[in-house]
Amino acid sequence: MSELRTEISSLGEFGLIDHLTKNFEIQNASTIVSVGDDAAVIDHFGKQTVITTDLLLEGVHFDLMYTPLKHLGYKSVIVNLSDIYAMNATPTHITVSIGISNRFSLEALNEFYEGIHIACEKYGVDLIGGDTSAAQKGFVISVTAIGEIAPDKYVKRSTAGSGDLICVSGDLGGAFLGLTLLEREKKIWLESPDVQPDLEGEKYITGKLLKPEARKDIIEFFEKNNITPTSMMDVSDGLSSELLHICKQSNLGCRLYEEKIPVAEDSRNAAFKFGLDPTACALSGGEDYELVFTLKQEDYDKVTLNEDISVIGYMADIEEGCKLISKGGNLFDITAQGWNAFQ
Ligand code: ADP
Ligand code: MG
Repeated sequence: MSELRTEISSLGEFGLIDHLTKNFEIQNASTIVSVGDDAAVIDHFGKQTVITTDLLLEGVHFDLMYTPLKHLGYKSVIVNLSDIYAMNATPTHITVSIGISNRFSLEALNEFYEGIHIACEKYGVDLIGGDTSAAQKGFVISVTAIGEIAPDKYVKRSTAGSGDLICVSGDLGGAFLGLTLLEREKKIWLESPDVQPDLEGEKYITGKLLKPEARKDIIEFFEKNNITPTSMMDVSDGLSSELLHICKQSNLGCRLYEEKIPVAEDSRNAAFKFGLDPTACALSGGEDYELVFTLKQEDYDKVTLNEDISVIGYMADIEEGCKLISKGGNLFDITAQGWNAFQ
């Protein structure tokens, strides 16, 4: 970051909003009125609208000691887009509201908005508004994302069928391992500030935590191959907890094969280094922002076309319970440990 520090108070609220949003170009025909009025106006031309919102609090959801503001801006958008894709919809608009203490300079906010801008361009969404307020301390971020979908084509969590295949995109556990590494390095640094953090060779897992992507490509793959998942959600709290949601809401059980759960080589190595079980990291670690979904068995051949999708199990009747079949062939109950279990 540059040495220059411009106090936010030198711009005033309207000056600040104008400064932060002036470089955002409108990308969607549905954006009728954007930043600058009492409210935005969007027209989805006969499509249905999907809306989601997420609140991110400093010290709870992110730690600025190891989170660059540009990455944080990017991730704040991504976590919301991921929820829109998880409905099988296409995100089109976001609003961004921020609460900032005077600890933050204009230069710091510029970095944050640069990350937001990159995410907007990459995913084709328009920033159409928000709110800006002073906060007593810390940084508060609230992002709302809006998406569109053809009428009644949205995919819920509650509509999986018995015998459906359970699939997941990408690989799991990386973000949790990135967090474990950064928290460990932070502790070392706080104890002895002269020791430089050793993050060499850990780019994959730190990247998974600090700069996740939303799986736009998977939704596009579905569309192109005429696939409609029977249920879907994104993996923000860990695979176990998400699968249990699908099971509970669909009134079903499931079987999950440990050997089929995708874990990247870099994540596996990091897990061993920390003395953690890679499967436990995949099941209970959060923030991977992959998609977990169920498909009718007849779609099996179509889905194997995509190397970034793993078939990891199947939905069962409710009486059969929700179980993991271990590499050794033993059955274990799937429990919702989730992200917080590790905090
Ligand atoms: P109001 O007083 O009606 O709440 P504001 O002065 O807060 O309006 O906002 C003026 C315009 O700037 C609105 O279009 C609002 O959506 C937008 N806006 C405010 N804060 C932000 C922000 N942090 N990022 C993007 N747009 C913002
Ligand atoms: Mg306002």
